[in-house]
Amino acid sequence: MIPFLDLRAAYLELKTEIDTAVARVLDSGWYILGPEVDAFEAEWAVYCGADHAVGLANGLDALILALRALDVGPGDEVIVPSNTYIATWLAVSAVGAMPVPVEPDPTTHNIDPARIADAVTPRTRVLLPVHLYGQPADMDPILEIARAHGLAVVEDAAQAHGARYKGQTIGAHGDIVCWSFYPGKNLGALGDGGAVTTNRADLADRVRVLRNYGSREKYVNEVQGVNSRLDPLQAAVLRVKLAHLDAWTDRRRAVAAAYHAGLVDSGLILPHVPDWADPAWHLYVVRNPARDALQARLTDAGVGTLIHYPIPPHMQAAYAGMGLAPDDLPLARQLAGEVLSLPMGPQMAKEIDKVIQHFNKISGAR
Ligand SMILES: *Cc1c(COP(=O)(O)O)cnc(C)c1O
Repeated sequence: MIPFLDLRAAYLELKTEIDTAVARVLDSGWYILGPEVDAFEAEWAVYCGADHAVGLANGLDALILALRALDVGPGDEVIVPSNTYIATWLAVSAVGAMPVPVEPDPTTHNIDPARIADAVTPRTRVLLPVHLYGQPADMDPILEIARAHGLAVVEDAAQAHGARYKGQTIGAHGDIVCWSFYPGKNLGALGDGGAVTTNRADLADRVRVLRNYGSREKYVNEVQGVNSRLDPLQAAVLRVKLAHLDAWTDRRRAVAAAYHAGLVDSGLILPHVPDWADPAWHLYVVRNPARDALQARLTDAGVGTLIHYPIPPHMQAAYAGMGLAPDDLPLARQLAGEVLSLPMGPQMAKEIDKVIQHFNKISGAR
């Protein structure tokens, strides 16, 4: 079986370094925040080209605390992609605001900037693009619309560690950028983790206070915060992996290039990369109208694939209350029925050719 993703292989490649880092934290006697988290925050900020990074418990919390830092709440609207992981919408709902979905550009699957202006109302406070699959969203027109309407920009970069937009690393294009270090992400911890990066000192400071019970000084609580701290054990693991992130992204790029060359005649719709985009290749997503049959035959052939995502947020029971019909967002619905994610990861090598052969055989290409 060729797995969709092999997390154990990623650990084993760095086992000595990771075990040493974990032992260092265990020996330190310091298990909440502290020097390991401070060091990771400093290194992650530099990597992202941002002035500040704040480590958090997970990516959903990063989105929620970013919105709270911007004082987004009941009565406010936040523009989100119709085609995204549901966490993007859930963060908006969690602060009491209303997610307002905008359909994707069908060639990139990312939010279509040309459709955003029509969705802006007097209640809109934030534009929340997602760099889906590690493909950067088209930030310049998004930032332009935000400027024109006086809106903040929050980026969901949970899949985009190391992606670049027009040569600049994702991490500080908008007001605040939200990260997940879930194990399967391009920079993944050995458990949950998250962060925000930003050039705005005011927002970094607010998130820092919110993540720790609204407290700057122990037992003095300025605001009603939460407990959402990055664990020092995870920070130590992330510091090890960060040193390898660019090399691992290069390997993902090589896998994507091999897929492109090998599948160009397969009849599948392959990922479209605009010339301004340098994707991090979190996922390699193809499209096919007969996706379900294709996936079943690949499973039989021993090739592990996944669907990101089979049910779009507006068709989930969780959002039945919004009263949206499936075809109110037809592109999100169509993509959910056609997308298929191929095995992808920096530890793939000899499996690549096998995946390509199976795909071509099954899809009937030469
Ligand atoms: C993974 C992910 C999140 C949530 O991250 P967690 O750390 O799992 O909370 C949010 N948005 C997107 C697009 C993601 O892929």
